[in-house]
Amino acid sequence: QRFPVVVVGAGPAGLTVGNVLRAAGVDCLVLETETREFIERRPRAGVIEEWAVRGLQQRGLAETLLERAQLHSECEFRFGGERFRFSYAELTDTHHFIYPQQFLVTDLVREYVDVRGGEARFAVRDVRLHDLDSARPSVSYVSAETGEREIVECDFVAGCDGGRGVTRTALPGQARISRHDYGVGWLALLAEAPPSNDCVVFGIHPNGFAGHMARSPEVTRYYLECPPGDDPENWSHERVWSELRLRLAATGTGPLTEGRLIEKRVLDMHNYVVEPMVFGRLFLAGDAAHLTAPIAAKGMNLALHDAFLLGDALVGYLTGGDESGLDGYSETCLRRVWDYQEFSQWLSEVYHGTSSGDAYRAGTTFARLRRLFTSPRAAAAFAEQYLGTASGY
Ligand code: FAD
Repeated sequence: QRFPVVVVGAGPAGLTVGNVLRAAGVDCLVLETETREFIERRPRAGVIEEWAVRGLQQRGLAETLLERAQLHSECEFRFGGERFRFSYAELTDTHHFIYPQQFLVTDLVREYVDVRGGEARFAVRDVRLHDLDSARPSVSYVSAETGEREIVECDFVAGCDGGRGVTRTALPGQARISRHDYGVGWLALLAEAPPSNDCVVFGIHPNGFAGHMARSPEVTRYYLECPPGDDPENWSHERVWSELRLRLAATGTGPLTEGRLIEKRVLDMHNYVVEPMVFGRLFLAGDAAHLTAPIAAKGMNLALHDAFLLGDALVGYLTGGDESGLDGYSETCLRRVWDYQEFSQWLSEVYHGTSSGDAYRAGTTFARLRRLFTSPRAAAAFAEQYLGTASGY
């Protein structure tokens, strides 16, 4: 078998690349270790920046999203027992779209497989990459149907298999992987309960950060800072809700709408960046190339940014022999990646400084927060980074 492009991983990055290629009439094969049903139900992200929505829209991939997503224009910080609204849409003229990741993945698979006729193999095992530094690379995998190892020859491999995939491990020793460990954990929760507020809430409290993020009218994501490596079983239903009530309390706010917890897992907050994102005929995209802990809700947005650039660059080369997109791919992606990394680090200190037990860090955290609500220029700069609208990417 031979395809011009093999895409490893059917997450937001891989499926977007696949869709862009199919729209230009380029054949590709998407390989995914999970079943289609599983990826269509796996909940993760939910905040998509407006530029990313427009990028999907330009590629014919946002029709359902635009019908169903909620549009947000404000977020709210709570600290010192008070609430502070931050109207970022007024400052940037752009919005956040709230649309659960599994809905986007469902839309992208449907469009790729059912509408654009793209090839995909689900539930494959033991994916391996071969001869990446030659002009004739190949990918092999064990088929779910036959149990046999299949080999696919190609011109390019798109490594879109997320933080725990195999494509990153195919990089040679000279690839640089920079890492940052925040030294904190977040208990990531999904509650079967309508949102308790009309926008995202960040609770900054001496006990630790707490977050509230709408996902849909029926489901809300909450976060609670916890020790890294903590056992989710240490967090009973009662403990979760009492800690959320405490950390999100502020004058003039209503009670939290409680509900059954349908997801409860601990994320150890860390980031990494692979440089360059290219090795021979392997191009990494999304979490395979860089992870940003969900501190600033950036990961899926970066995955989409890479995918737009990679899809367009592969089309440029495979249909017109234009090498410029592929040549500049890694450098262009990494400009936005590093900007978002820096913002996540800045925001992490705002979230975690007061609970660090270090009075100095708590003092500087409050200075950062006060500045957002007293300095219009600081507020504008924050809004630009929060929405990913800064120029120069
Ligand atoms: P993935 O979505 O991880 O997709 C990779 C795919 O590859 C998966 O389907 C996987 O099954 C498959 N795969 C793995 N190994 C192999 C293999 N060997 N062979 C073939 N396939 C393989 N980001 C935001 O922008 N906004 C948010 O609000 C946000 N909230 C988040 C909340 C949580 C709790 C978490 C965990 C993450 C959040 N993120 C958020 C991050 C976001 O979910 C990721 O950045 C995003 O999924 C990256 O997309 P991707 O396509 O690169 O990787």
